[in-house]
Amino acid sequence: MASVSKSPTVENPPLAPLVPLLSQKFNITDINEDVVKWNKEWEAAIASSSAANMIKEVYHTFDDSLVTSDDLVDFHSSLRELQEVVAQNLRIIYHNGRFNIIWVLLNTSEQKRHILAGLNKASEADTIWAQDCRALCSEIIVSNFLSQSGKGFIDFLDRTYEVLKSSEMPVFLPNPWWEQASDDLDLSNPSWKEASNESSTNPRSKVVFEVATIERNRFIGNFVLSSVSSIANDIVHHSEGMKDVLDIVEHSNHEDKPLIRCDNCTKMPEEIELGVRFMVCSACKSKLAFEVHYCSRTCQEKDWLVHKRACGKKRVSKGLTGTKVDSLWAFNDHISDMVRTYQTSRNGTIAPRDIGLGAPTGKRSPAAQRQAEMLEADKDVDYFLFTASGEPVRFMIDDPVVKTFFRTVRGFVMRPDIGVEVMAEFILKFMSKYPGLSRDIILAQLYEEYGDDVLVVWEWEHPPGMETAIESEAKNFSKVFGPLVRMSMDIFVQKRGTLG
Ligand SMILES: [Zn+2]
Ligand SMILES: [Zn+2]
Repeated sequence: MASVSKSPTVENPPLAPLVPLLSQKFNITDINEDVVKWNKEWEAAIASSSAANMIKEVYHTFDDSLVTSDDLVDFHSSLRELQEVVAQNLRIIYHNGRFNIIWVLLNTSEQKRHILAGLNKASEADTIWAQDCRALCSEIIVSNFLSQSGKGFIDFLDRTYEVLKSSEMPVFLPNPWWEQASDDLDLSNPSWKEASNESSTNPRSKVVFEVATIERNRFIGNFVLSSVSSIANDIVHHSEGMKDVLDIVEHSNHEDKPLIRCDNCTKMPEEIELGVRFMVCSACKSKLAFEVHYCSRTCQEKDWLVHKRACGKKRVSKGLTGTKVDSLWAFNDHISDMVRTYQTSRNGTIAPRDIGLGAPTGKRSPAAQRQAEMLEADKDVDYFLFTASGEPVRFMIDDPVVKTFFRTVRGFVMRPDIGVEVMAEFILKFMSKYPGLSRDIILAQLYEEYGDDVLVVWEWEHPPGMETAIESEAKNFSKVFGPLVRMSMDIFVQKRGTLG
């Protein structure tokens, strides 16, 4: 343990801000100079150090012999006061289903700005070790929060909310890195304190660990509160960085409350019959306060092999779209579908090539089934068209954002579901003049694949030059979606054209 020079601790009452020893030890850049660097250096310091070492360092500045049991009661109750406020704010967020989608649509630099604003405020907050408390919070890793387009941060808020709402007492957020310190320090054995050059006869190291745990949780509480208010403030004031995202969110369809869907057959009550009563798994409900729904006993039995692994032990369901466990339940249109697509992608970007057809939810016509099989077999192609002689034409879209929108609509069409007229409008505009194809040939093919819905398009000719729905959506949203869309252009240059 390196010994650090310090001013005598007796001069400091336990609650006054103390010399930032950890900041000095790790040579941390001044937060007001460069907050990005400041955070990076803390993350590196945490990664290189155990929680026990951090505690030993701050211990130099903290005279625990001055802490009375009344002080400890005060520490606990001020932590709880803060946690109540944090829980209240998170509750408001959860009742407004729009928060999550706004957050994940924000571009990464905006997300980062809000997170750093939260860290900045938390470091200024009234805690014993001020910014040194940052060193006690290994769960705050900005790159994790930004992963999957920001889903990492949403997950962190979810976990925090779950813990805070589970109790009316002050609660400590679980963290294995931190908890390891209570073993490492061997709280029953005060020798670690003597080794660190202190001469107190009553080390009371348990008190230090407890106070540090409280301060750690206060830092996290302040961080959550400040980062979330930074975001909320931007939403309310339609700030510059928020404008494009709010445009999208205000134009999308909203649900007032989460859907209930059978965890086996995925159907909603109204899809089965009026007045049908869904059942919930009673073990999950009573042990975890978690609702897993089934439309019938048959569905529950069919799902049991899968469900029994988590039943009553872990809050696990299929996470069906639109249900309470879907963080984007308030949204039921293709925009939220796109967001779901890139949330589940490995690196948090949309790779248009990877946007497939999804699992079919209904019966496809034989022609649509053939289309689906050909598309699955050749993922570079956006759609297969057929000339009068049955020759396949590989329709491929260059613009990555348009491509993404087209493929999202294609997913809806091929489930089969809705949107064939939107897809048809787009294909007709670009492919009607293609050698061997014509408007009528394409419409006849789509009619064979999807039936009557195509008739609407047959009767209405798209004025030449007019933008299609897919193009205009892509244009409106390219500012937000553009940076998320990743693709390799070379595929298109190489493989463009018709099959021989
Ligand atoms: Zn069912
Ligand atoms: Zn269960």
